[in-house]
Amino acid sequence: AKKSEKLNSVQLYDKALHPAIELRAALENDLAFALQANQFLLYYQLQVDQAQRPIGAEVLLRWQHPTLGFVPPSEFIPIAEESGLIVSIGGWVLKQACLQLKAWEHSPDTNPLTLSVNVSALQFSQPDFVETVTNILQESGCNPSYLRLELTESLIVKNIDDVIDKIKVLKTLGITFSLDDFGIGQSSLSVLKRLPLDELKIDKSFIDDILHNNCDKFIVQTIINMGNNLGHHVIAEGVELKQQKSLLQKLGCNAYQGYLFCKPLPLQEFSAKLQNIYIHI
Ligand code: C2E
Ligand code: MG
Ligand code: MG
Ligand code: MG
Repeated sequence: AKKSEKLNSVQLYDKALHPAIELRAALENDLAFALQANQFLLYYQLQVDQAQRPIGAEVLLRWQHPTLGFVPPSEFIPIAEESGLIVSIGGWVLKQACLQLKAWEHSPDTNPLTLSVNVSALQFSQPDFVETVTNILQESGCNPSYLRLELTESLIVKNIDDVIDKIKVLKTLGITFSLDDFGIGQSSLSVLKRLPLDELKIDKSFIDDILHNNCDKFIVQTIINMGNNLGHHVIAEGVELKQQKSLLQKLGCNAYQGYLFCKPLPLQEFSAKLQNIYIHI
């Protein structure tokens, strides 16, 4: 009886764990071929100013898996980071974004828009990151002043001097920098003081309850004041309600991104949305 009980528990244990482990292994395996198999595409999410005029878009990566369908970035980005694949994938994203910027130069709807591209810590810390970006800029011929790189606090904790050096060089080319998901990481104010940033992006988690949680409201107010005083543009992510936008505006927030204005869209739909906005302005 004892033996069968033990077997049973082993079986249960296996059943519970195997699918998750296998799925992850399968994803990691498939991710290695996704780039050459053309399974990635870019979505664009609108960013607007206080008057709700378009000012830019964030580039968001999508993976269309041949059998699983769309795999969310929250599932495959961590795997891409752990396996190192994020370096080549991120390079591809950057190249596509720069080609898009170049293509947009000719359209009055898109000409002044900034494109924000997420850069993973591993990607940014590659010794040849500056060289890679420089090459991509040259190959695409885009205007670097419309390219914004979004970094996260996880990067900054690691090797602050290297990060500052790279940002400084890339800024001389005209590229601007945003600190993404600001407020949830571990970067200290002394680090923030030294970083030559252009923008702070307030994390969605502070925006979610901003209407009902005074603590969140005060934190957001403080981030906006600090950001503005440091001369940075401040943008809020994850704005879903009109009342959230009004409150953020009252607190002095410069720009907004969220479902209230537009969900991330594939290129054609994004362009159509922009045209529609301009028709109504
Ligand atoms: P993120 O950079 O903070 O991007 C914002 C995320 O919030 C996006 O999720 C976007 O779809 C979502 N979002 C925006 N507005 C709203 C809203 O009003 N409500 C809700 N519920 N969500 C909203 P997404 O596209 O799933 O991307 C998740 C994360 O994956 C990104 O967070 C970023 O960290 C990472 N990621 C996406 N694309 C790339 C990429 O090309 N490279 C790297 N390294 N990371 C990427
Ligand atoms: Mg981002
Ligand atoms: Mg973000
Ligand atoms: Mg976020």
